[in-house]
Amino acid sequence: MIDTHSHIYDPAFDNDREQAILRAKEVGITQLILPNVDLSTVKQMRETVERYPDFTVCAMGLHPTEIRDGWREDLKSIKEDFYANYATARYCAIGEIGIDLYWDKTYIDEQKLAFKEQMKWALELDLPVILHIRKAYAEIFEELSSLRHNHFKGVFHCFGGGIEEARKAVSLGFSLGIGGVLTYKNSNLPNIVKEIGLDYILTETDDPYLPPVPYRGMRNEPSYMKFVVDKLADIFDENAESIDEITTSNAHKTFNI
Ligand SMILES: [Zn+2]
Repeated sequence: MIDTHSHIYDPAFDNDREQAILRAKEVGITQLILPNVDLSTVKQMRETVERYPDFTVCAMGLHPTEIRDGWREDLKSIKEDFYANYATARYCAIGEIGIDLYWDKTYIDEQKLAFKEQMKWALELDLPVILHIRKAYAEIFEELSSLRHNHFKGVFHCFGGGIEEARKAVSLGFSLGIGGVLTYKNSNLPNIVKEIGLDYILTETDDPYLPPVPYRGMRNEPSYMKFVVDKLADIFDENAESIDEITTSNAHKTFNI
């Protein structure tokens, strides 16, 4: 299994990162993809990748909720770091980037600009993207169409849209990142993944956030991804091994890892 969205470098793991990684390996996870958040997370993310080079790769980008006054400077620094290091620092994608209008719409225009700029880096270097989208599917599709490109590589991380958005994402070349929310009561994700099919599903945890049942309310960690895989096995009436095989191969293809 590959956890395609882990923040294992987060201070939430400062006391037991080593053990959390061992637990992940014990359940059969072979790799973690670590997306960046903002300037303050770059150092810890990079250190984690240097410490666990066979187990982690990272993505570079500026998260939409971090777009606020001074964002142009931040984006410039992220860009400099990215272009100076992408060939050597095990950056397998641009991320996480996107639009988030859930908490605050103040910087909607700036979020769009930052998103589009980072999408252009990805297209220029032919790298996949890890998209964070919350209450902003229409806006994301509008920005993507303005790029005048009909095929993209990457993932709608923590997919939270409906079936129409899922179909549209897949038709543009994206996969859906599916994590703990799949296991929540009343989630509409089981119907959506079933209709979209396993070939477009990437598994992820988004740890330390959004733990699956039975760990809701607690800290999430990569090893809990097995509950997501088990739930997918239920939904598709397959065994966990074949789910693992397909979704792992999807991750290899999407991120070229
Ligand atoms: Zn994240």
